[in-house]
Amino acid sequence: MSLRVDVCIIGGGAAGLAAAASIDRGIRTCVIEKNKILGRKILATGGGRCNLTNAGCQGHGATLDFFASHGLQAFPDEEGRYYPYSGRAADVVRTLEEAVSGADCRVLTDCAAESIEVTGGGIEAADAGFRIRTSRKETVFAKAVLLAAGGKAAPQFGTTGDGYRLAKDLGHHVTRLYPILTGIRCGELRDLKGIRARGRVTLLKDGAALAQESGEIQFTEDGISGICVFNLTPLIRAEDGEAPQEAFKRCCLELDLAPDFTAEEIAGRTSSFGILTRELADRVDLEHIKAWRLPVLGIKGWRDAQCTAGGILLEEIHRDTMESALIPGLYFAGEILDIQGPCGGYNLQNAWETGMRAAKAMSRQIREGRSLQP
Ligand SMILES: Cc1cc2nc3c(=O)[nH]c(=O)nc-3n(C[C@H](O)[C@H](O)[C@H](O)COP(=O)(O)OP(=O)(O)OC[C@H]3O[C@@H](n4cnc5c(N)ncnc54)[C@H](O)[C@@H]3O)c2cc1C
Repeated sequence: MSLRVDVCIIGGGAAGLAAAASIDRGIRTCVIEKNKILGRKILATGGGRCNLTNAGCQGHGATLDFFASHGLQAFPDEEGRYYPYSGRAADVVRTLEEAVSGADCRVLTDCAAESIEVTGGGIEAADAGFRIRTSRKETVFAKAVLLAAGGKAAPQFGTTGDGYRLAKDLGHHVTRLYPILTGIRCGELRDLKGIRARGRVTLLKDGAALAQESGEIQFTEDGISGICVFNLTPLIRAEDGEAPQEAFKRCCLELDLAPDFTAEEIAGRTSSFGILTRELADRVDLEHIKAWRLPVLGIKGWRDAQCTAGGILLEEIHRDTMESALIPGLYFAGEILDIQGPCGGYNLQNAWETGMRAAKAMSRQIREGRSLQP
């Protein structure tokens, strides 16, 4: 079977759905999604609440306007993280689904894009411009393609890195990929598993402080976790040609588990218990409460990561339209790009923003009937 559309969007996640909802009316669009449902990863974001943007993102106003135009209101917490007013990620997905169903859009779920070929003819030619073969043996012909297949983080939600392969097959380059926004492995901490403590975490590399984050530290059986820990992981990476294990050895963490107390106040105490829980106090004595050193043995893998570092080389993309500089009519949006932010709504903001920008450019391309041949 074959389907002929103006725009084919590969990936029904945050970027793909924002794009599908923003394409001009009258433009025939289809979304190809590998999972049985749309927006699977969005459902897991923000602990099921979906932290959809942050007041610190330059483009957050456009995201809020986009969702408000589809009826979804979002409100910030005291740290500027925006969540849907209902506090449910499922409502974000529902809003996007309704927006897409109101557009001229066919949705193919349980359907993976397997290859993209440039078919040659100009935009008016019968063979359109791109041929997308799918796992359902359905072939889609499109004048423009948006590759929004996400990265490699959390593959259990469908993101197994297909987008990089599809892009490479078309001549694009992908920078080194590694998992970020995940826990750090520090060795045996089984007796502390499940304990949470307010604190400040400093990442040291070659003995020098590289970055510091504050917040809730969560102890796991082999390390530490929590947003403040996640945000340090982009800095724990190997240099070009360096083995990851060598890079880890150069790093260590220093935990201040009593950030609201001065060294003098601590010196006047007899025990760390009372500031720390009993279990933590048994492990961390008063002398080390403001500077407890833990080695970095590694970071958690793709399954636990919230984001991919690295991606499609940005030099090969026109950032104002998200169109490929190598292949006219091919566009990119979302985590597949070499763009990554900290926890707090920055990565979803990137997905919505680049998805909407690509939709605007694809709509213009189709309306103007621009030839795909450079
Ligand atoms: C547990 C968790 C919590 C997170 N919480 C937050 C948060 O609160 N705030 C925030 O800003 N960010 C958060 N993130 C990160 C954020 O979810 C991602 O950065 C964002 O979803 C990326 O959007 P995307 O559209 O590029 O990719 P995705 O949303 O991952 O969508 C890509 C889609 O493409 C599909 N796909 C892949 N290959 C194919 C193929 N060959 N054919 C068809 N479809 C394909 C996938 O199934 C997937 O549905 C979180 C991530 C995780 C894992």
